[in-house]
Amino acid sequence: MIYKETFWMACDSTEQLRAEHGPFQTRAEAERQARKLGFSYLLRYEHLIENQDIREVRCIFIELQPNPSTRAKIPRRLHTRCATCGASCAHTQAWRAEVWADIHEFEHSRHRVRLFEQTRADGLKEIAGWRDACA
Ligand SMILES: [Zn+2]
Repeated sequence: MIYKETFWMACDSTEQLRAEHGPFQTRAEAERQARKLGFSYLLRYEHLIENQDIREVRCIFIELQPNPSTRAKIPRRLHTRCATCGASCAHTQAWRAEVWADIHEFEHSRHRVRLFEQTRADGLKEIAGWRDACA
């Protein structure tokens, strides 16, 4: 009689000389541990067992996607700048940028505020149509 046994490891690379941590019964457990250790791969082992002998070992690497919640924690810097008069301001939260633009466009009719996002990689990048998206 043949049966299949599956378990999971957290590992730091797909190289032969890699650090592995485990085993874990579920993918979720292995993934949690991998994220804690800063590892970017999971390894799924499948053992095909016949009469208590391992007949075949299969292993499949799975690359973890960057954690969306870690990404969201990186503070963004937003810059609002009026295209009409050049007044500008920096913000850490999108709603503050919106409030600033609302007040500015209210106090100065027909002024148009543009929004820029500052990231370390790209520098300043305009977020086009942001006011329309909020409306
Ligand atoms: Zn202005």
